[in-house]
Amino acid sequence: MQAIVKEKRAPGLTVKSVPKPTPGPGEVLIAVRHAGVCGTDLHIADWDEWAQGRLKPPLVIGHEFAGEIQGLGEGVSGLRVGQLVTAEGHIVCGHCLQCRTGNSHICKNTRIIGVDRDGAFAEYITMPTSNVLTLSGIPTEVGAIMDPMGNAFHTVLTAEIPGSTVFIVGCGPIGCFAVGIARAAGATKVIASDVNPKRLALAERMGAHLTINAAQEDVVKTVVGETGGEGADVVCEMSGAAAALHQAFAAVRMGGRVQLLGIPKDDVPLNLANEIIFKGITVYGVIGRKMYETWHQMRRFLSGGQFDPRPVITHKFPLAQIDDALAAIRSGDAGKVILEIA
Ligand SMILES: [Zn+2]
Ligand SMILES: [Zn+2]
Repeated sequence: MQAIVKEKRAPGLTVKSVPKPTPGPGEVLIAVRHAGVCGTDLHIADWDEWAQGRLKPPLVIGHEFAGEIQGLGEGVSGLRVGQLVTAEGHIVCGHCLQCRTGNSHICKNTRIIGVDRDGAFAEYITMPTSNVLTLSGIPTEVGAIMDPMGNAFHTVLTAEIPGSTVFIVGCGPIGCFAVGIARAAGATKVIASDVNPKRLALAERMGAHLTINAAQEDVVKTVVGETGGEGADVVCEMSGAAAALHQAFAAVRMGGRVQLLGIPKDDVPLNLANEIIFKGITVYGVIGRKMYETWHQMRRFLSGGQFDPRPVITHKFPLAQIDDALAAIRSGDAGKVILEIA
């Protein structure tokens, strides 16, 4: 089968033929139809410090996908050949403290497809049945991006949204999803900021009541002014940029909540007293998707028609054009970039 492989401990990716996997006990074989490309894949292609410390090439990369079940391993029940599915890409241990207390999204033994084992940028992938989710009518191009969309659902829905003012900091694909989710979940005002006008336009399409160009406007002043002088009830920080993080803490109201998803490259010095403690705010770190609460919520929002992520998908490429897909992400102008595999 054709696959995108990280072959060597060096920059670059290779499109090549590799053996088709066979499903082991408790696994299914999935023919991949669509796959999402994201920043993680860019880090792997560029072979940055994180990738050097984490990956053991050679391996097939890619962790966001949806496709059709084409084979069942020994002992699999409850799933059948022909079903359209996606999967949680974090394979967890099931026995650590976190797993046993309903928090397997922070399992300390997590193995990620396309990072720690073979991934989804291929014609076929095998997955443990525990991680497989049926799409129940959701198209595979949407199913393929349920991993990053799930990050947005996790970020937004772990705060109290109905009747709230919500400020989304950073309008990359996950920020744009978060805008639409906040609207769908009953936020009364959704404000979004970014430095890129194309991304702000996408956030507007996803339902932002107001967008702020952080390169030109006073972000904090605008948010405070738009929220009756209080600041936003909920702030979702999706960028990881140091300046934006300070804006997030400055723009949240006293007693509000800051959801942190964006990953800063370096240390970010904070004035804990003034930015967090004296404001009495709650800060929540978002990693992965709650297993499987987030997935069930997401499927209901999608099948119920309250939320449609498709405006965020701006680019589609065949598997062989992974370099073009990465270039689109690198440009900074793209929404979600996906691969059409079958
Ligand atoms: Zn991703
Ligand atoms: Zn665990």
